[in-house]
Amino acid sequence: MTIASYFADLIEQISPIHGRGEAISIAKIIAEDVFHCASIQSVQQLTSEQQVQAQAIKEELLTGKPLQQILGMADFYGLKFIVDEHVLIPRQETEELVFEALRVFPPEENIKVLDIGTGSGCIPITLKHEAPGWEVSAIDISEEALYIAHLNALNNDTEIYFLKQDILDEDQWENHRYYDLIISNPPYIPHSEASLMPDSVKKFEPSVALFVEDSDPVIFYKKIAKFARQHLRQNGVLLFETNEFNATDVEALLIKEGFHQVQIIKDIHRKDRIVKAKA
Ligand code: GLN
Repeated sequence: MTIASYFADLIEQISPIHGRGEAISIAKIIAEDVFHCASIQSVQQLTSEQQVQAQAIKEELLTGKPLQQILGMADFYGLKFIVDEHVLIPRQETEELVFEALRVFPPEENIKVLDIGTGSGCIPITLKHEAPGWEVSAIDISEEALYIAHLNALNNDTEIYFLKQDILDEDQWENHRYYDLIISNPPYIPHSEASLMPDSVKKFEPSVALFVEDSDPVIFYKKIAKFARQHLRQNGVLLFETNEFNATDVEALLIKEGFHQVQIIKDIHRKDRIVKAKA
């Protein structure tokens, strides 16, 4: 079987499940990362070993499993991150959050940073990689996620202080010091909107990382804002990832909490994506 015929068949079969655009992206990642081949139209033959591997990947994709979980690896900001079912797959939108953090503080400045709800650790690890002088800490409620985040920090040669903590529990706040930057991409999807999410996300990604109660969809933003009032230095910066449906609610709550220069920043698709504020 040629590489081209494998991918033509793969795209055809997985498009109904993953969507055609995503199916083509999946094919390109497999070509590059698994077959080390530049094109999905190559007429090169797959070896018999590659055919077995190709078939196994296709079968898993047909269950709706995201490619990153099948390969156990995701790309983020030019780095590789181990992922499994306990962590959210790092998203492109989150790269923009990281980019914004690196725009706000010069990499050579000696600042202290905290990432809340770190998951795979993609945010703190990328920040530390880009700005080695920063002192970066990260918390998460999930022990399984922290295990993956630790591995990712090791693999990417970065030193991060990880701590298991539930940010919603105020009793756990006191062992924190002051930070110059607090950053978070918290869960924010109300359970009632779950039906709008792709099945592959609902079935395979951790619900603790995604969903919140309908009764208080901005609960994490509220708690983190309160935490930041107590643990951000004067002129420190709070950076949140949001989506286009909750950005103005988050903006309003930060203004109400007394933050300054509250600003919504759009992503490359012109959608509200980041809310930034100063203490
Ligand atoms: N911080 C991680 C990310 O941005 C995890 C976020 C989450 O689990 N809500 O990918």
